[in-house]
Amino acid sequence: MLTFEEAREMILARVSPLGTETVPLVEAAGRVLAGQVQSPWDLPPWDNSAMDGYAVRAGDCRGSATLRITGYMAAGGPDAPKVAPGCAVKIMTGSPVPEGCDAVVPFEDAEERDGNVHIPAQVKPRAHIRFRAEDIPAGTLVVPAGTVLRPPEVSMLASFGMGRVTVYRRPRVAVLSTGDELVELGEPLDHGKIVNSNSHALAAAVLEAGGIPTLLGIARDDRESLLAKLSEGMDADVLVTSAGVSAGDRDFVRDVLADLGVTPVFWKVLIKPGGPTAFGLKGGTAVFALPGNPVSSLITFEVFVRPAIRKMTGDARPLKPAVKATLAEGLKKKPGKTQFFRVTIESGEEGYVARTSGDQNTGILRTLVLADGIAVLPAERTAFAAGEKVDVLLLYR
Ligand code: AMP
Ligand code: MG
Repeated sequence: MLTFEEAREMILARVSPLGTETVPLVEAAGRVLAGQVQSPWDLPPWDNSAMDGYAVRAGDCRGSATLRITGYMAAGGPDAPKVAPGCAVKIMTGSPVPEGCDAVVPFEDAEERDGNVHIPAQVKPRAHIRFRAEDIPAGTLVVPAGTVLRPPEVSMLASFGMGRVTVYRRPRVAVLSTGDELVELGEPLDHGKIVNSNSHALAAAVLEAGGIPTLLGIARDDRESLLAKLSEGMDADVLVTSAGVSAGDRDFVRDVLADLGVTPVFWKVLIKPGGPTAFGLKGGTAVFALPGNPVSSLITFEVFVRPAIRKMTGDARPLKPAVKATLAEGLKKKPGKTQFFRVTIESGEEGYVARTSGDQNTGILRTLVLADGIAVLPAERTAFAAGEKVDVLLLYR
């Protein structure tokens, strides 16, 4: 059977970024840049004042000095004429530094009287000036391909006037729940029935991962129903199913996927929860058959489906980086499987502190609701002492 890491690598090796599209910059927020962006000009484009104050020639201000104010420059306003020795220009933040000046004295370090400015202390050349290209020279690679466009990247692209950008297409993800016991939200809950929560949970997880979910509804635990519903999912970039993938005698999902021409890549991974997870491929569709337990389906989505979706979105770093957290209490597990422990996270004096969020049984959804993350406990280990640091994947933040 595959280890957690092997299974995840097998998935990532088999999915690729999708096509690209060009969208308005604001719509590109949160998406992934498809082609690298280079700065078309210097930033800032000219030397400009970092403060509201007076543009001066530093050479005039070697000690206390009084200069005649010969001009005024507001941001975006007309340029002042060249500044002669002994003169100063009143200048607002962001205005180009007038010719002849090499320093700015902030208002708070000067005193203006009768058209003159008195500067009591020495002024250093270059003081309070933002120099041309000091942020970014023209031709610099400012955003590499594969970067998620966060507000700072949007700021960068907007600074260079880029109103439309080319990003990767978001993967279309079909979500199918399977099971004779399921009813849809709002339908009567006869004895033995449960509400199909997985479709909604997984659709929410798809959105969080950057995909576009489509709900295919419920397939029953029979081959005809599964065949009809699963074939609908084959148009999507990703098909995610829940339940019917264990060893129960009505667990037909894998059989029917094979009938539909899905090539199995793996079934069963050395993890807990989520052991019976299956993964396969058909053409451009990646198929994940997740276990039915609401906790198992969300955790296997997080550790297997989410990285695949991130890679398809073009994200050059599809795996969420784990954070190190100190265990507040000892934990025990059986050897042989990677175990995902639902934990709460607090900020302690020495970084994150992890504590179990309660009952770790796969049937307990409450402790996933309470969890801030999942601690990834390595397969071979069995006991983790209080004070030990473990890897935690923070969830949904
Ligand atoms: P299975 O994988 O079919 O053995 O299902 C495991 C458990 O998950 C059973 O208790 C199911 O009732 C439950 N389950 C399966 N599908 C769903 C679903 N769509 N929503 C909520 N619970 C489900
Ligand atoms: Mg079932």
